[in-house]
Amino acid sequence: MPIEPDSSRCVRCGMPLSYDRYVATVEGDPVSPDPELCAHCAGVAAPSPEVERPVAEDRSAQLDLLLRVYRESAAWPRDAGAVARELGVPADAAPAALIESVPERRSGSRYDAVVLFSGGKDSSWMLMKLAQRGDLRVVAWMLDQGYQSPAALANAESLCEKLGVELVITRPEQDPMNTLFRLGFAVNEEQDPHLLRAAMSYGPACWPCFSTIVAQSSVFCHEKDVPLCFIGTQKGQNRTNMRGKPYVPGGALPPLDAAVEDMVSMLRAHAEAKAPEAAELLRTFRTRTVMVPFYEFIPQPTLERKIADLEALGWAVPRNTGSCSTNCMMNELGYRIMRNQYGFDIYQIMEAHERRLMPDPTPAGIAVLDEEAIRRGAKLIQLTPVERLKWGVDRGPA
Ligand SMILES: [Zn+2]
Repeated sequence: MPIEPDSSRCVRCGMPLSYDRYVATVEGDPVSPDPELCAHCAGVAAPSPEVERPVAEDRSAQLDLLLRVYRESAAWPRDAGAVARELGVPADAAPAALIESVPERRSGSRYDAVVLFSGGKDSSWMLMKLAQRGDLRVVAWMLDQGYQSPAALANAESLCEKLGVELVITRPEQDPMNTLFRLGFAVNEEQDPHLLRAAMSYGPACWPCFSTIVAQSSVFCHEKDVPLCFIGTQKGQNRTNMRGKPYVPGGALPPLDAAVEDMVSMLRAHAEAKAPEAAELLRTFRTRTVMVPFYEFIPQPTLERKIADLEALGWAVPRNTGSCSTNCMMNELGYRIMRNQYGFDIYQIMEAHERRLMPDPTPAGIAVLDEEAIRRGAKLIQLTPVERLKWGVDRGPA
């Protein structure tokens, strides 16, 4: 099935229609009979009741509760009713699936929690909030793939110092890293529909990026026996797998290993066949770590609020990362290549999963790309003139 860039979107929920059709075909599901609607909005896709509605309300009390369970409850395995009685909270404040998924506190672990930290605004604000709690031994872990903005790195160091949080930066070798990103850019030349579908779901640059973060964080969590891993992604992201199905049912914290399996294994197999040295970057370990999707518990503040809070701690908005990121210098190039190859943006899909569960879904707009940031990214990863031409680096979609 060859891919042609196609920017048409469902008029009701904004889901990219070519993606919707492609996924239905790969899965053997019914394809939408209506040229203007996705399969879901056309009513031919099976509803997915097990996907939770994104919650807008403040669930900070639940975060407090799960952290209390982690700190105080010695009972194992956990019994939600007993835990609620022990902590003196109503039984319905302690959802069984959530309580049972809280990992055991072990005296040998040096850290209670790792924060997947990029130095960008979302993970910086999350780190600030967690550090200010004062009841968790937090470590900030960052993967610098060589594409982090120098301003983001400077932000990260000064913020961690101000907050009194240890910062660990892992730096993989540059050549295999660049190779892995090139494999992502070239997926649309492959025949395997599952590879193509994954590249469209995660993005040609973001897939190698997220995968190395997830894989190498599993190494860190394994070595340091870290039970909790805070992630600052969008609401709903990382709670569901590529097929939009939850990793775990009923509000339980998703295991890091589930994300490893879903996001990393296919790319690693592809890299093993094409560039074994790049596949090495995707080596993983089994962990007992669960992910805590921070912004599912703590409502996102406004962008202005978030930046003002961080600026008060000396953090500064980087000027060299493009319109969609405050840490990554490859992001904008990834967007350009994805739009040229597939016709849409990664966030149009991720958000569409949630948008179509909302009472009044409205399609999101498309960001204008920053040409200077695109050129900077292409130079950083040392694309050849042939590659620049092939991937349409210097032009927008036809
Ligand atoms: Zn739709």
